[in-house]
Amino acid sequence: MNSPAGLDSLPLAGLKGIGRKTLERLDKLGLRTVQDLLFHLPLRYQDRTRLQPLGMLQPGDWALVEGRVELTESGGGRRSSLVCRIADGSGSLVWRFFHYSAAQRARLNPGARVQGYGEVRLGYYGPEMTHPDYHHLAEGEAGSTASALTPVYPLTEGLHQKTLQKLMDQALALARTHGVSDPLNHLAPSESLDVPHLIDALRLLHAPPAQGKPADLERARRRIAFEELVAHQLGGRRLRARVRHQGAPSLRLDDETAEGFRSMLPFRPTEAQRRVMAEIAADLANDKPMMRLVQGDVGSGKTVVAAWAALAALASGYQVALMAPTALLAEQHHRNLSGWIGGLGYGVALLAGKSKGTARQAVLDQLVNGSAGLAIGTHALFQQEVAFRRLGLVIIDEQHRFGVHQRLALREKGADGLTPHQLIMTATPIPRTLAMLGYADLDLSVIDQLPPGRTPVKTVALSAARRAEVIDRIVHRVRAGGQVYWVCTLIEESELLQCEAAENTHRQLQEALPGLRVALLHGRMKPDQKEAVMAAFKAGDGDLLVATTVIEVGVDVPNATLMVIENAERLGLAQLHQLRGRVGRGSGESHCVLLYQPPLSNGARQRLGVMRESNDGFYIAERDLQLRGPGELLGVRQAGNFQLRIADLGRDSELLEQAKDLSDRLLEQHPDAVATLLERWLPDASRVAAV
Ligand code: ADP
Ligand code: MG
Repeated sequence: MNSPAGLDSLPLAGLKGIGRKTLERLDKLGLRTVQDLLFHLPLRYQDRTRLQPLGMLQPGDWALVEGRVELTESGGGRRSSLVCRIADGSGSLVWRFFHYSAAQRARLNPGARVQGYGEVRLGYYGPEMTHPDYHHLAEGEAGSTASALTPVYPLTEGLHQKTLQKLMDQALALARTHGVSDPLNHLAPSESLDVPHLIDALRLLHAPPAQGKPADLERARRRIAFEELVAHQLGGRRLRARVRHQGAPSLRLDDETAEGFRSMLPFRPTEAQRRVMAEIAADLANDKPMMRLVQGDVGSGKTVVAAWAALAALASGYQVALMAPTALLAEQHHRNLSGWIGGLGYGVALLAGKSKGTARQAVLDQLVNGSAGLAIGTHALFQQEVAFRRLGLVIIDEQHRFGVHQRLALREKGADGLTPHQLIMTATPIPRTLAMLGYADLDLSVIDQLPPGRTPVKTVALSAARRAEVIDRIVHRVRAGGQVYWVCTLIEESELLQCEAAENTHRQLQEALPGLRVALLHGRMKPDQKEAVMAAFKAGDGDLLVATTVIEVGVDVPNATLMVIENAERLGLAQLHQLRGRVGRGSGESHCVLLYQPPLSNGARQRLGVMRESNDGFYIAERDLQLRGPGELLGVRQAGNFQLRIADLGRDSELLEQAKDLSDRLLEQHPDAVATLLERWLPDASRVAAV
């Protein structure tokens, strides 16, 4: 049923009527082969299969209409527009154009016959369509209707629906002659899933018949979604299987060192921390590389768990690399761990992106000769010239900032043919369904308990019009002995603008609060400057810290009990939750004020509502998943690690268990199917895993 030339080896360049520009645009969408194109599914459909009488149009309808132009005039007013009224005997409709050419206007003269498609809205004169997709009909020519629903595809700039639709017709024809290999067809789940065969599903989705039922379309979509979920499972499993074949140093923490460490801590680890430590200890003692994700809400105390794992490596004569997503956080870890681990006699080094010259060289030397046991840094640690003498453990803090590629890069830095163990820590409480898929290559430990004595943060959302009241609150809080964060956010990507906004706010607040010590922290300050500001604030030397979102992750000042977040409506839930996690770390009651610019969009209102009603990271993550979709939740969109094209974890989560079972069976019994699926769905990941 499969001809030797599979669709995955037919390049798009072989299709008719395809030029270099179009090929480039398709490439931007990740479409290179005929198979890629076939799996590029429509976002939605237009019904152009029947004409709607103008007299029957309802606002909100998408409709195909036909009629004769009665009147065309360009109106003045606020926004000049071309207005064209058409009629068909049953009623009339206004077409409105905000951009138009003189020629276009001239052709829409009274008496002309036209057909068009668009969304109906209620305008001043009755039903209206703005910028309908239309064409002229000759006198006596019958307007044509489509025989199938018209798919609407995701596009990229310069690529048109019609171009894509024409190419898709060719791709479907090729699929008919060549066949599409169906890696799931000999397996039972297609029965229990009640879904059509792959080729039928694809045909239905790309060209659904006019009378096609939504339920059929949904079954077809589920068929493809299922396949995608299976492929993601396989990707993770394969990665993991490869790691299992590698050797790792067996790391053990002797009782005496463990006791020394415990006695140095200012607190007793929680039950949850101890459980996770035990899970890690069991992994580390093994001579297979640990691949473990520790998930713990902000403030649950992941650092001490990491320190403890690091100690196990150090005590066994191996080095540790601890990687943080920002220089600020790396510096804070360096401060904490120098106390805990340096105190036990091991060398601790800091390697941030901005370390330069001889200082940097000195650190690099210490790592090569082994005199520094623990290296703390940012992604600078991934760089080629960073070499270790005996790297045994890699710890990655706040994993969601890094991609799978980076994870793998550090793993390569092991010595003696041994692969370092990996411990990954995230405060992003990944819903279980998502964890199963996005981190199929990792074991999971959860710190599901906060250290004792924490009181939940009380959160309010206030309009920016009440800023003065908020500033008053700051004074009260400081008089009562607390410290305050003021977080400036800007949607702009530009760090420069963010920092300028923080500088301005800093000036304003200094003027408004003359009696207070107001400090400033932003990403463009020098590392030692930032370090100094943070250290001073932590030591209580400073009442109010105005900062950009650089303080988002990790920063720990238990005496800070009030946080004001400006433009909170622009931030996502994950980021708001992270920021808010900077307060509520001591035993006093903490507050978070979300300042917003009205009017609020619907989504923003919901997000702020979620923040007000809950402090629970898991709950917030679940809501986030519902509101935003999974790709963004993992924060890997930028890392390019994990993105679903068809499947939707909200809608398809019940398919996951089955996808997992099936991926097991495929791995055992059908290696060809595995290869086909990975190539089809995860070509980039296959490349990574093959390294
Ligand atoms: P996160 O999980 O967000 O990285 P941290 O490791 O920064 O959390 O810990 C947050 C704060 O809680 C720190 O001040 C830390 O010293 C403290 N802490 C951690 N574990 C405990 C514990 N078992 N009892 C009391 N305080 C703790
Ligand atoms: Mg942390």
